[in-house]
Amino acid sequence: MEYFTCLMDLAVHRGRLVPLFRRMDPPVTHLIYADDLLVFIQPSTEGLQTLAGIMEDLKSFSGLQMNRDKSRVYFSSRCSQKEERADVLGIARSDLPVRYLGVPLTVNYARDQDCHGLVEYVQRRVEGWQAAGLSFGGRIELIRSVISVVAHFWLQSILLPVATIRRVDRLCADFLWRGGMHAVSWEQLCRPRKEGGVGLRPLLEIREASALKLSWRFISGGSLWADWMHSRYVKQGNFWTCTPDNNHSVTFKTVLRHRGVFKSAIRRVMKDGSGTDLWRDPWIDRRSLLDIRGSPTHQEDRRGLTCSRIIRDGEWRPESYRYTEELGGFIMSAIIDPALPADRWIWEPTGASTGTGEFQFRSCYNLIRRTFPLCSDYEFVWCKGLARKTQLCVYKLLLGRLLTRDRLSSFGVPVPDPKCVLCCLEPESIKHIFFECNLAWQIWSEQSRVLGVCASGKCIGDIISVIRDSRGRGQDWFRTARVRLAASV
Ligand SMILES: [Zn+2]
Repeated sequence: MEYFTCLMDLAVHRGRLVPLFRRMDPPVTHLIYADDLLVFIQPSTEGLQTLAGIMEDLKSFSGLQMNRDKSRVYFSSRCSQKEERADVLGIARSDLPVRYLGVPLTVNYARDQDCHGLVEYVQRRVEGWQAAGLSFGGRIELIRSVISVVAHFWLQSILLPVATIRRVDRLCADFLWRGGMHAVSWEQLCRPRKEGGVGLRPLLEIREASALKLSWRFISGGSLWADWMHSRYVKQGNFWTCTPDNNHSVTFKTVLRHRGVFKSAIRRVMKDGSGTDLWRDPWIDRRSLLDIRGSPTHQEDRRGLTCSRIIRDGEWRPESYRYTEELGGFIMSAIIDPALPADRWIWEPTGASTGTGEFQFRSCYNLIRRTFPLCSDYEFVWCKGLARKTQLCVYKLLLGRLLTRDRLSSFGVPVPDPKCVLCCLEPESIKHIFFECNLAWQIWSEQSRVLGVCASGKCIGDIISVIRDSRGRGQDWFRTARVRLAASV
């Protein structure tokens, strides 16, 4: 493909191809990804004929041939004679947005209807699984390992509309509860296990973390995309003080929106300070001089002033810049590493050093996700050695969400006989069937005898407390007690 790149560059140089760019954008004529090729040119007849000629040259030189059935040409809405222009290339025309691997690529906010491909995919999968007679645990695993992964892929590429995410969530929740009553809300299920969920991740939070990942790619630079975005939107200004405006793309607005989060999660490490704006980049303990001192005077704020002004021979020399003397303490705390190839940002969310300083999706997700109080009772649910079905039964019991006959009637579900299914004497409730019924009493008595504690009570919390209070009997005993409790339920 290097031959193709040479031919394109030559055609641009001779003026036979005009790249798509405006003002000071760096001209990008084409992008190559694996065996896919995207070309961006002005659709003049001469330009299209030149491109067709280049494709023929490539074919005769390397044997690489364009698959015309899989290729598409897209024109802007202002372009006329689209069919005639498409015929020059011999490629079918299609309408924007471009779809790559099913994902719509658009500079505007993706609309719900643009993302119907994802909703259709989820719908197809859950309809196929419904006939498989899967357990509750099996359905959770499929959502986690298939649907969440595909949704994650989409979220890495575009900012999915909230409406689309809600529709995917609804399909997953209905599949999980087989279209029936939702005993536990989807929001509750999408929490970490220690916080009362089943460990699914909410797509809305994955969406936010994915947007932060994209922002990191922009901030850390070093890619064609980051350079292009910087040149188009930041220009000669500074990213950290850039004001959003209507000319900014959705992606850049998203990047700007996350500046506050980034200030708390990144740190500047300097080689010589030449790539760091002295006043505006947040290089002093996650703050900029502007944050600490307020606006500089006209004399202080000389354009292009970098931290190299106060670094000499790999050490801080704040006295070499007289206006920063009072900030000496702050400045000396910033890091200089002369071994680096250039100044760089390192990813270091508070209390979660990543070691390499590279972005980590997990720590980013933990940084932005909503947290809930930890509950140690859940360690009695997710203990090893238990079938998933048993774990989920204890989980629902802890939440008080098992569908006993009293709860079914309270939801308006017709229940012919409200009496306990075991003794047929008392009304069936969670409290009765698990703790008061004769059979339940016998089970807990037997467990009490084997474990050597009084493993009975009026609710699951009482029994958990008794077992936890006896934890001093050793790890093996505690593990056995947890399994016995769960198995009894
Ligand atoms: Zn009973």
